[in-house]
Amino acid sequence: MSSNDDFIQIIDDDEPLQTSSSRELPPWKILVVDDDEGVHSVTKLALKNLTILDRPLSLYHCYSVKETKEILQHNRDFAVILLDVVMETDDAGLQMVSYIRKEMQMEECRIILRTGQPGYAPELSIFNEYDINDYRTKAELTRNRLITSITAALRSYRQINTISENRRGLELIINATSYLMDRTAIRSFSQGVLTQLASLLNFPQNGIVCVQRGFPDAANPDGLFVAGAAGELSSLITHPIEDMHDTEARAAIEESIKKRHHIYGEDYCVIYLQSSDNEGAVYINTQHIPSEDDQRILEVFAANITACFNNVNMVERLNFAAYNDPLTLLPNRTRFIIELDHYANMAVPDKLVALIDISHFADLNEGLGIDAGNSMLMEFSKRLKSNLGEQCYIARLGADVFGIIGSETFLNPENLNVILSKPFQIQGMEIPVRTNIGLCRLTGNQVAGLTLLKHANIALTQAKQSNSSRFEYYAEEMEGNTRWRLNVIRRLHEDFDSRKLQLWYQPQIDLRNGKVWGLEALLRWPDAEQGFIQPPSTFIPLAEYSGLIIPIGDWVIEKACEDYAELKSLPDSPEYISVNVSIPQFRSSGFVGKVKDSLYRHQLEPNSLVLELTESLSIDDQSSVIDTLKDLQNAGIATSIDDFGTGYSSLSYLKDLPISCLKIDQAFVKDIRKEGEIFVGGDFADTILTLGNKMDLKVVAEGVETVEQMQYLRSIGCEIIQGFLYAKPMPMVELVKWLEHWNMEKGSDQYDWVI
Ligand code: C2E
Ligand code: CA
Ligand code: CA
Repeated sequence: MSSNDDFIQIIDDDEPLQTSSSRELPPWKILVVDDDEGVHSVTKLALKNLTILDRPLSLYHCYSVKETKEILQHNRDFAVILLDVVMETDDAGLQMVSYIRKEMQMEECRIILRTGQPGYAPELSIFNEYDINDYRTKAELTRNRLITSITAALRSYRQINTISENRRGLELIINATSYLMDRTAIRSFSQGVLTQLASLLNFPQNGIVCVQRGFPDAANPDGLFVAGAAGELSSLITHPIEDMHDTEARAAIEESIKKRHHIYGEDYCVIYLQSSDNEGAVYINTQHIPSEDDQRILEVFAANITACFNNVNMVERLNFAAYNDPLTLLPNRTRFIIELDHYANMAVPDKLVALIDISHFADLNEGLGIDAGNSMLMEFSKRLKSNLGEQCYIARLGADVFGIIGSETFLNPENLNVILSKPFQIQGMEIPVRTNIGLCRLTGNQVAGLTLLKHANIALTQAKQSNSSRFEYYAEEMEGNTRWRLNVIRRLHEDFDSRKLQLWYQPQIDLRNGKVWGLEALLRWPDAEQGFIQPPSTFIPLAEYSGLIIPIGDWVIEKACEDYAELKSLPDSPEYISVNVSIPQFRSSGFVGKVKDSLYRHQLEPNSLVLELTESLSIDDQSSVIDTLKDLQNAGIATSIDDFGTGYSSLSYLKDLPISCLKIDQAFVKDIRKEGEIFVGGDFADTILTLGNKMDLKVVAEGVETVEQMQYLRSIGCEIIQGFLYAKPMPMVELVKWLEHWNMEKGSDQYDWVI
């Protein structure tokens, strides 16, 4: 009788090991390799309808080495391979083992060698080297023995599989802590948890969801979010729990978190997770009540992963901090650049990046305190989010600069104006906010995110400097301009440090008596020759922009006081010295104190100093402006509104400013001329003078170049005149000579026309 016949005889053995189960787990895949057709059919019969370790069996059959190799190319997940030792050759089966373990690197599947001839047993070392589970002669393998052998192999396979699944899960968890990318940390942590659980307890991965309280950047920071999910449910990742269709599962998760304990339902369980400052839950669709053993494992597991959960949450927070602004919770500059990078090569004709800068934010911070500043930023970010949040990507890039990416339908001056024009409610006050906005189109010219941001920033800078427009679109020409400006600022810095700046003076004449009423100090930046590197109208705005105006302005006041003190020792010296003060300088902390110090150092009466401020000052944060003006007034220092009439302050507001002087801008003087016997072009000057008189202010007209202009101004009652008609601004040495000459000659016939 052949060995095959022996094999058939075993069929009537005792009852097979069989467990029943309600769970529908996938079958164990078993590969039968034998060149004998009979062995295949006997094996099939022996294993028919069997369930081992809760799972049915699924048999695959191969008749040759070639066939086996083919099937292994597509199926690597065999749990057990029943392998005939002798096939085409005496050791074909052993070579096959080597192929499976070494070439195919299938380490988990269990191998049972079978042979018809007892003499062909492989060397013992081969068992170890190739991790062979069992070696049997076919004669030995009764049905029952076969099943026992397969069961042992499957149990072993399951263990090995669990270990390696665990290892995979563990790797995911470990990796999670080293990731520093958006959201990946908690996501891969959850994925690790899911893999571990599924393999630990043999649950289908499909029914597992890991939920965490609040993704930190979510609109609802306390809500529950799906942090991880497997299979079909993975589309839910990052979604709020409300998006879960399975309402029973949802309710179970919510209950577990509410009650802070695990729940074991009929066909599910929820493991509650808690870390020092967060909580979560893992929902598992077990399809049956977990056994007590399983429950114990679950609990141990939950305790173990809590530590990881803690870590991951910390990493997540670090991660969040790396990409988000902690105050507004908006994405930060780094994140914004990454977002912009998406558009590097993408021409999106309709899309723009916009930078919005809140004007004078620092003053609000200084004037009303950091809390007010913070709530301003919060309100601002809320305003942006509620109006543009759905359609645009919004970030906070710096202290008072917000970045937005979106379509032109939303990011256009009109719409932004509408959104930002309403005042903001800050600590019970209504505070209007002025903004400057730089826009840059996303043209997709292979421009990296950072460059796009730079472009938008160039446009923003331009908008800040433009008097006429608070919006600018980036254009390539602007770049050269920027480089030029930075260069000027750098040189100005150097020259100021090496004391190359000078203060020149222009006299102001009192038409009532021909005396020099005052002097206006004007800054000069001389070059090595007789000229100037840049006129003040160019370099002062740059100094303001760069902040350099503060030290320069301090120096101007100090120098003017010093020079004026020197002039005071001369006979008939002017009564006043006027100094121009920039708005940032006026608002800088300690400004009034510094002015008083300069006066004190040079033993000057405070009321000989007039500070000229531009009219735009009055549209800024009014209360802090008035406070500073009052401080000056209390110190006896006079203030003057320069270039009056060119700004756009409301007269009603101006009326309340504690100032003592108005300067009619030269724009309203230059058109004054005589046509026949009649003066024309002086209406504005006339109006300003009337206004000044009504408000009891001294009125100075500047830019007076012609006798006619002077005559007209005198005819309407303007008393103080400044302009080229009398003198151009000049350095101190020249001024001293000029003053001497003027005082000597002013009564003479030569100067008749003067008054
Ligand atoms: P501003 O305060 O309006 O100064 C008057 C400007 O008019 C001066 O220009 C002066 O040279 C010029 N000017 C005087 N008389 C006449 C005239 O009859 N005809 C014409 N066409 N121009 C006349 P400058 O010196 O070029 O200064 C330009 C601006 O730069 C000043 O305008 C002022 O706003 C600013 N500035 C000058 N020095 C300082 C300073 O020390 N600090 C600050 N913050 N700004 C200054
Ligand atoms: Ca001035
Ligand atoms: Ca002026």
